[in-house]
Amino acid sequence: MKPYSTLFFDVDNTLLDFRAAEDQALHKLFASQHVPLTDRIMAHYRRINQGIWQVIEQGKADRDSLLNKRFSRLFRHYGKRVDGPAMEKKYREYLSEGHQLVDGALEMIRLLHNRYNLYVITNGVRSTQLRRLRDSGLLPLFRKIFVSETAGYQKPMRAFFDYAFARVPDFSKDQALMIGDSLSSDIKGGYLAGLDTCWFNPDGVQNTGQYAPTYQMKRLVELKGILGGPGGGPEFRNL
Ligand SMILES: [Mg+2]
Repeated sequence: MKPYSTLFFDVDNTLLDFRAAEDQALHKLFASQHVPLTDRIMAHYRRINQGIWQVIEQGKADRDSLLNKRFSRLFRHYGKRVDGPAMEKKYREYLSEGHQLVDGALEMIRLLHNRYNLYVITNGVRSTQLRRLRDSGLLPLFRKIFVSETAGYQKPMRAFFDYAFARVPDFSKDQALMIGDSLSSDIKGGYLAGLDTCWFNPDGVQNTGQYAPTYQMKRLVELKGILGGPGGGPEFRNL
């Protein structure tokens, strides 16, 4: 166990409950179109969206043009023509209103921010992510927020991590830890960038990925043990 000084956190489904924010935004979007949002449509949307983000993560296609099509594709399937980019814009506005915290996230970040240099590294839209972090109370506890939209790269790309490292004062890879829920972006990206990684795996799913995290936890509170173990900050052992 290393004495870490710098912690990089993912946002969605690590600190903020993206599923809750997404559900709320989709309900508002469908209500605005006077279309009832059924479980079947919701599941269909998740399939379309997951496919799109897989392509984006692989760096194979332009992110904005794909996102601008996700709602026109979905609504077309149910016989309604909508303006894709306009719907996307509306959806992002609704999404930015959702800032439900993952259990224990604010308490843990409050605890950590005086002892560690905390950074966010997130794939997403800058204005959306900043607003959600601000409204949840998390924003002032982080030194900087790195958003893929601004960087021009996304996790798991090595370039996104290098972009962040270049903006962290006195950065040392050996003392940094990447914490996130996604094997394909956080754990793979952190590993390829040369960081130790901590996989937040609340549902206890099996790791089917190619990259093994350095640590794994089911609840955020377990970070205390991970950071406060042998070689970790001694002040942490009694928390
Ligand atoms: Mg995530």
